[in-house]
Amino acid sequence: MALIDVQSFAHGDWIAPSSSARIVASAIDGSSIARSGHDALNYQDMIDYAKFTGGPALRAMTFHDRARLIKALALHLREHRDHLYELSYQTGATLSDSKIDIDGGIGTLLVFASKGRREMPDETIYLDGDVEALSRNGTFLGQHVCTSLQGVAVHINAYNFPVWGMLEKLGPCLLAGVPAIVKPATSTGYVAEAAFKVLLNSGLLPEGAIQLISGGTGDLLDRLGSQDVVSFTGSASTASALRSQPNILNNAVRFVAEQDSLNASILGPDAIPGTPEFDLFVSESVRELTAKAGQKCTAIRRIMAPKTQVPALVNALTQALDKIVIGHPANENTTMGALVSNAQKHDVLEKINTLSAECERVYGDPDHFSVQGADSEKGAFLPPTILHCDNPRSAQSVHAIEAFGPVSTVMPYEDIEDAIELLNKADGSLVASVITHDTDVARDVVLGAACYHGRLYFNDRTSMKESTGHGSPLPHMVHGGPGRAGGGEEMGGVRGVMHYMQRTAIQGSPDVLTKLGNQWVPGSSTTSDETHPFKKTYHDLDIGESIQTDFRTITLDDVEHFANFTGDTFYAHMDEAAAAANPFFPGRVAHGYLLLSFAAGLFVEPAPGPVLANTGLNNLAFQKPVVPGDKIRVQLVVRRKTPRTSEYGEVRWHVAITNQDDESVASYELLTMNHYT
Ligand code: NAP
Repeated sequence: MALIDVQSFAHGDWIAPSSSARIVASAIDGSSIARSGHDALNYQDMIDYAKFTGGPALRAMTFHDRARLIKALALHLREHRDHLYELSYQTGATLSDSKIDIDGGIGTLLVFASKGRREMPDETIYLDGDVEALSRNGTFLGQHVCTSLQGVAVHINAYNFPVWGMLEKLGPCLLAGVPAIVKPATSTGYVAEAAFKVLLNSGLLPEGAIQLISGGTGDLLDRLGSQDVVSFTGSASTASALRSQPNILNNAVRFVAEQDSLNASILGPDAIPGTPEFDLFVSESVRELTAKAGQKCTAIRRIMAPKTQVPALVNALTQALDKIVIGHPANENTTMGALVSNAQKHDVLEKINTLSAECERVYGDPDHFSVQGADSEKGAFLPPTILHCDNPRSAQSVHAIEAFGPVSTVMPYEDIEDAIELLNKADGSLVASVITHDTDVARDVVLGAACYHGRLYFNDRTSMKESTGHGSPLPHMVHGGPGRAGGGEEMGGVRGVMHYMQRTAIQGSPDVLTKLGNQWVPGSSTTSDETHPFKKTYHDLDIGESIQTDFRTITLDDVEHFANFTGDTFYAHMDEAAAAANPFFPGRVAHGYLLLSFAAGLFVEPAPGPVLANTGLNNLAFQKPVVPGDKIRVQLVVRRKTPRTSEYGEVRWHVAITNQDDESVASYELLTMNHYT
């Protein structure tokens, strides 16, 4: 295989590695496969290119435009993934490891694309939460909004997931409208560079949206300011060195860190041998130990079992691990590939050595194991290794040292309180799991340990077929953890997008809030004309356009007819004395649902037209009872419009039902689907 020249992409140019470039070796046989690194990139030009070319172009797009862009990038990448699988073998990854990395990354982009379309507006300003009433008469209101940062995001990624690691950061960042400079880890940067090239060559991205550093970051971090973000994934020591740089501290540069953690899994007290939970625990533990040869930030490093179950568990793990085939990652029957490099292998062996002072090895001998289809001496292969720590309460290293490879330590616990204490001893982790069919145990763990962990994963016989796995961070859910795990949080749907946006509290009149959110706020101006709004197409409807209906009197006959017709003969509608005894009612009252039905009867335009369907109703509140003899009328205001398909969009209407004294009796949000034309 010819040596790959891993390039950087800076201020619009591809830049080849320089003479000082580092040689990257194959995980399979140690041969040289790539050159990566450069003497000096012009980092200020890179920042300026992102800030003044990429940023404005991205910010000119709406969230929906960016979501469509992200989806198109994901689909384009999917077309080119075979080449990425091929390259990934050299990192020691099997095909199923690469699928986690490459397909997982593509899937993550698709989730962000879908969340961007469904949960964010077709706008450039994101409204965070509801309008806050700040004044008695509603003429002065508050609203939190989020707008795109006007700087650049620097993404520094770990070596273990060169594609997923890049995409899980790019998805939310691009959705936020912020350009990125991606700096992959050098040892697998050739895979990241290949994926980056696919993204860039798609021609889909605006100029300046993404750049790539293959090699060191020089003085880049010293040049960042308050509008920039560093999003780092890697070891705790690198995170600590980078986040404490004076410029990062002095300019309060946002620094998100996802770092290593001593994740744990608890075998529930109820999950004894013979239960589905016991078998599930064994298979989850083995998967986490062997997938990516244990080089997953979320892998289970500490396996906790009731003291009495430890021998049975070690026995079951042994039997399952005996079936693991270590070998050339491209071989079909290989179930565990190699570590990324011989340096990484030696680092793991050293860590096992340190752990061995407090543990004994019960499975895996690095000097005696077989490797299929590759040379175990030349390649970075290691066997899965299980250590046993008999006294985890006094032991230190098992709760502190991460052997970033196929290594886990089994430890006993006395009862669930003891297990929770052990769980929290690692001082913050990305994920902890509990395999239990006992919901009391689950609740105890949440109360005792959730604050120490970014994610808690419960699994049992009910969820096991559809569960996603202890070690899989999902784009819908937050990924990160407190303390040792870095104190960061990524993904989590729209939450992850907010890392690249500024939240600002806006105070002002209803008209100001309507204008900036392009969403009608009660109290702000309305418009109306001769034409009923149901006769207008989606595009012809304006925010704030309204209709006020005539009055309709509610009679006792109406109430009784409705009660007998629907079967809702609740006493408040039918029995004067009983209704009057209820503290909410003056006597017999109209059904709330009768009011809704009459409201529709008042505002609807019956002929076929652009309104296709009523698809829902939100935030219904009945504010004042309506008694026979009262009159009601309805105001309908176009509150918000959202495109949904190529033919129609959703219109949200603010509906207010008032009585003859202009008092509110009910309000809600009505959803309709309207043809565009
Ligand atoms: P690492 O050595 O800390 O490196 C991480 C990244 O930082 C690499 O891109 C590295 O680039 C870069 N880097 C190192 N020194 C730097 C400096 N002075 N300035 C700028 N960048 C610098 O970690 P790794 O070995 O790649 O990854 C393994 C670790 O990452 C494990 O501890 C694992 O637990 C953790 N991890 C955590 C997560 C998570 O989500 N929490 C995910 C995956 C991995 P070079 O490669 O060029 O040195």
